[in-house]
Amino acid sequence: MKTYAYGFPRLGEDREFKKTVEGFWKGELSEIDARAAIQSLQDGMVAAYEKTVDFFPSGEITLYDQMLDTAVKAGVHRPGSLQEYYDHCRGKNALEMTKWFNTNYHYLVTDFSTTPLKFSPEGASPVLLQRTTASGLPFFIGPFTFLKLSKGLTKSGFAAALRDLAAVYRELLRNCPAAHVEEPAFVLDLTAAEVRLIRQAYRVMAESGCKIHLITYYGTVDFYKELCGLPVAAVGLDFVQGPENRKNLIKHGFPKDKTLIAGLVSGRNVWRTDVTKAVALLRQITKAAPSAVVSNAAPLYHLPITLQCEDKLEPQLKQALSFAKEKLDEIRLIAGVYDGRGAAPALPKLTIGINGAVRRKVKALKPSDFTKKITAVRRKKIHREILGLPAFPTTTIGSFPQTAEVRKMRAEARTGRITQEHYRDFVRSKIRELIALQESWGLDVLVHGEFERTDMVEFFAEKLDGIDTTAKGWIISYGTRTYRPPIIFGDVSRPAPMTVDEIAYAQSLTRKPVKGMLTGPVTIIAWSFVREDIPLRDVAYQIALALRAEIRDYEKQGIRIVQVDEPAIREKAPVKRRDWPAYFDWAVKSFRLTANTDPKTQIHTHMCYSEFGEIVDQIGKMDFDVISIETCRSRGDIIRSFEKIRFNRQIGLGVWDIHSPAVPGMEQMREVVGRALRVIPKENFWINPDCGLKTRDWPETTASLKNLVALANELRRR
Ligand code: GLN
Ligand code: ZN
Repeated sequence: MKTYAYGFPRLGEDREFKKTVEGFWKGELSEIDARAAIQSLQDGMVAAYEKTVDFFPSGEITLYDQMLDTAVKAGVHRPGSLQEYYDHCRGKNALEMTKWFNTNYHYLVTDFSTTPLKFSPEGASPVLLQRTTASGLPFFIGPFTFLKLSKGLTKSGFAAALRDLAAVYRELLRNCPAAHVEEPAFVLDLTAAEVRLIRQAYRVMAESGCKIHLITYYGTVDFYKELCGLPVAAVGLDFVQGPENRKNLIKHGFPKDKTLIAGLVSGRNVWRTDVTKAVALLRQITKAAPSAVVSNAAPLYHLPITLQCEDKLEPQLKQALSFAKEKLDEIRLIAGVYDGRGAAPALPKLTIGINGAVRRKVKALKPSDFTKKITAVRRKKIHREILGLPAFPTTTIGSFPQTAEVRKMRAEARTGRITQEHYRDFVRSKIRELIALQESWGLDVLVHGEFERTDMVEFFAEKLDGIDTTAKGWIISYGTRTYRPPIIFGDVSRPAPMTVDEIAYAQSLTRKPVKGMLTGPVTIIAWSFVREDIPLRDVAYQIALALRAEIRDYEKQGIRIVQVDEPAIREKAPVKRRDWPAYFDWAVKSFRLTANTDPKTQIHTHMCYSEFGEIVDQIGKMDFDVISIETCRSRGDIIRSFEKIRFNRQIGLGVWDIHSPAVPGMEQMREVVGRALRVIPKENFWINPDCGLKTRDWPETTASLKNLVALANELRRR
């Protein structure tokens, strides 16, 4: 039994990727040194593959994002230098960023309404990194996926573009005896017309003579028969997230002249693979496809690199886990056991993290737990009286610059170099400064700044029971930005208040309302690795109950506004529309459960960096009073979507793209507001940035927020 793997993380065990690229941006590293460092990361990836599997792609490494690289290879964007390449990633010319399928990886979106629709194989730019090894199949993201995830194409424009792009791929593939081509978009809900276009495109690409290894992942391919008929050498199917792939395989068989790349090891979750089950499935698979090879079921970059240095984890939990390197070993292990070499190890069973009280509470939930006693319309009147906010209220999304000083103090508190009291005083001093600053700028609803939080999910994970965190389990969320997803292994509960101390302290310093700041259940789930032994819905309700208790504690401290962030609500939606109703049912209800406290409390939520247009009706079912939503990177498309539904809640559309270091001018912000006010009644409109400010620096934060308040004042005068 042969083995195949792909998508190994590029980050490096010590986050070398981040350090290198950011070092280059800061001018601490020359281009030659930066390239050399990233090339050596590529060598590391290849070495990991070579040690364990028979086949793998090469050239997966990127200087920032593979989707941008795909556009460059196809001659769509033509950066003349590394600097110009990075201009597409950040700063003034940055492309829009959107989440990649239902993951928390953000890719750069090519928008053909602003980019000329022209392709050329000469676009294989010298700016991109070269492959450093002869072994491995040259890596490509397929043309269909690239175009499907781009924007600005009409239906007919798409057909023509795919035809042209396929011809470019034919030229790119001509020099490759074999290639690894990923088409995750094949698992989306596609029309018959799109499937026809795929057939045409792959016919053109096949003229190259290249043995294409076509890999699909993130679920079932609904056009199985047509997929098997494509002129490619190998087809990769996800048997972990795509259970119908197995049914289709057994029902329709598999072509004799092709290799099946059987994705049996999860690339999305950290639980050890049940090798016995995987081998049994593999036996079924090889009956229909004797040519099968064992593989991962999705790219491994959704996982941290290795479990090896995780000494802090609960020992029993560690036993149950496997990260990217360990997954490679599992792939090999499955092949070995299948071939009769060795036995499948028994899977350890977790006996930690069981909490009967929480389980009973979730079981006992009734419809009234999900419905507020007072309607949104009546709440609005009550809130107006309690809060007395001006027209066009101004606020921010929560976090403020996490400067080197803040990070250093946190690190020192972690290692015990400073006492917890010292750290707490430090955080309080930051809160004090920030409250004074916000008052001096004239913001209306204040925040405490989130200085005590590493990350909006990890922070709560550390406070909640049933969730563990890792020491070095970093993964990339976009570009060079990394985070450590916590691991939800048991029943979740709140042993003690988590954020009440900081929020109440901030409120004690000002008469203006301070927002309590929480991360919602869906986002905690989306940005963690989650247990698979109970339904996600139950995990969400457990978290919701913990958060609801937190809000009730805020209320006791006189907090009048609470924001429950749900930036991941769209991202977590399943790739197939047919799975949406079940998902949104629990996602919306978990929010309603969280926020079902005293109706006098004004509940805010915040969302960002997704295509929200298609879920505005679901957003409407979440029982908040105010929503702040990112618009800058999606160029205000969201405004049009809100036009479609009668949205009688208050809304703040981001007027400042906080992922860019540029300070937004008045003109730029006026434009967003002008467009929005054509759709949204002015009495419902808030003024705020796109997202939290933790990645920004102080000078641009100060300048931008002053502009933002000036804008609100100008609107009020009008
Ligand atoms: N409150 C969070 C912050 O300001 C929200 C971040 C997010 O939406 N990702 O950082
Ligand atoms: Zn955000």
